Amino acid sequence: MIRAETSAKPLVTETATHYKVPFPYCVLRWKGYALSQEICEQKAKGNPAVDYSSRRRFLLSAGAAFVAPAFFDTPLDGQSHGPSDRRPDAILNRLVEGNRHFVAGTLTHSGRSPKDFTALALGQNPVAAVLGCADSRVPPEILFDQGVGDLFIIRVAGNYVSGAGASVKGSLEYAVAELGVTLLLVLGHSQCGAVKAAIQHLHDNDALPGAINDLVNTIKPAVLESKDKPGDGLENAIRANVRRSVERLRTLEPVIAPTVRSGKVRVEGAVYDLASGKVQLMS
Ligand SMILES: [Zn+2]
Repeated sequence: MIRAETSAKPLVTETATHYKVPFPYCVLRWKGYALSQEICEQKAKGNPAVDYSSRRRFLLSAGAAFVAPAFFDTPLDGQSHGPSDRRPDAILNRLVEGNRHFVAGTLTHSGRSPKDFTALALGQNPVAAVLGCADSRVPPEILFDQGVGDLFIIRVAGNYVSGAGASVKGSLEYAVAELGVTLLLVLGHSQCGAVKAAIQHLHDNDALPGAINDLVNTIKPAVLESKDKPGDGLENAIRANVRRSVERLRTLEPVIAPTVRSGKVRVEGAVYDLASGKVQLMS
């Protein structure tokens, strides 16, 4: 059974040609899987040529068959209040503009009212994925002036990919393959405690308690890479750490790398300055 749902009232139908789903809250499910907004809208327009199973097939062909059907049990591809232009450049510009609001103290607080989050109960349609540090001073929604449902965010101390295990990589792959985000942003920040700890640990060569040791060891390559560069050692290591994650994601097979090569997805790095509130892109 194929089921289409709207924020107003769900529609249940047996064939895709019966859809009369008002935009923008369009969620199409096929055999229990949430499908893309684009496919949903095409089906709603009555386009019989659309292959609504293509994204799922992509997941399978991309080697992502480990994702259990139950994982998709919740409708995923609703429509947020985001822009219709989902090209990566447009999304990046949107975040840059949002950060200008933050720096100027003119936040619009968009997408944070009951009408916004209740509409999202049927599904999400974030415009970008952000890999940021867990640092309490670096909340992506706020510093980019975005609302509920706009950003798919993974936060881990040190904002790194390699060595972080499957959770970080899998989450970002999921954002691209299933949610259709077109921008992945790795967001480091000034005075990052995790990078500081890696520098200190390298200097002292001591043992840190618990899993902190593993965390710090994972960031060490970025510290070593930037060790002999001119300028501030901590700033260099923070940027090297972001750069390494960006490079890893751009070449991460089998899900993300092909989308980067085709130009559908852009992976960028940036550093947030705690004192000024500015996010500086690294490219
Ligand atoms: Zn940090």
